[in-house]
Amino acid sequence: MKEAVSRVRSAEPKHKFKSYSPSFLVDAMLGDIARKLRIFGYDTLYVKDTSDKSILEIASREKRILLTRDKELFKRVVKTGIEGVLLEQYDEIDNIAYTLSKYGIPCLSFNTGIARCPCCNGILTFKEATEFNGSLPEKIIKNHRVFFQCLNCDKIYWEGKHVSRLHLLVKKINNKIRKFEKESAN
Ligand SMILES: [Zn+2]
Repeated sequence: MKEAVSRVRSAEPKHKFKSYSPSFLVDAMLGDIARKLRIFGYDTLYVKDTSDKSILEIASREKRILLTRDKELFKRVVKTGIEGVLLEQYDEIDNIAYTLSKYGIPCLSFNTGIARCPCCNGILTFKEATEFNGSLPEKIIKNHRVFFQCLNCDKIYWEGKHVSRLHLLVKKINNKIRKFEKESAN
C-alpha cells in the first residue's frame, strides 16, 4: 500500500461498494477523469467555478464520492464525513485505478450499453444509422453500424478507431487496480 498512499490519499470509505456502482463528483482540473468515468458508465458530475461549500453540499446530498486535487477541500471532506479521494498525481491511470480499487471495484470494462455522454453525463441511447441520414456526413453513415445519441445534449457518437484506444486504457487501469489490491493485501 506504500506506493498507493504516496500517490493518492482518500477519506476512508464507510463501506465497500461490492455490488453497487458508485457515482462521483469531480472537482475542477480533473475534467479528463470525469470524461473517462462517464465513458466507463459511472454517473459523474463535473464542477468548476463552484464554491467549496456548494461542492460539499452536492456530494453530501447526492451521495457522490468527491474526487479532488485540492488539499484544503479534501480536509473539509474528511472533517464532514463525506466520502472522497485526494488525487495528488497527474497520472490519470493511477488516479482512476486507485479510486476504483478503493471502492471495491475489481476491474473495469468498456461497454457501450452503459456508457454515458462524456460531455454532459447524459444517458446514451442506441440509434440506427438511417436515423441520421442528412445530419451526418455520408462517409460516417456508410462506414459505421453502431450509433448512440445523448438523451440530454443530443450529441451523436459512433464506434470508431477510438474504441481500441479505450480497450487499451481499460487494460492498463485493470493492471493498476490489481497492483493496488496486491499492495493493500500486504
Ligand atoms: Zn450529452
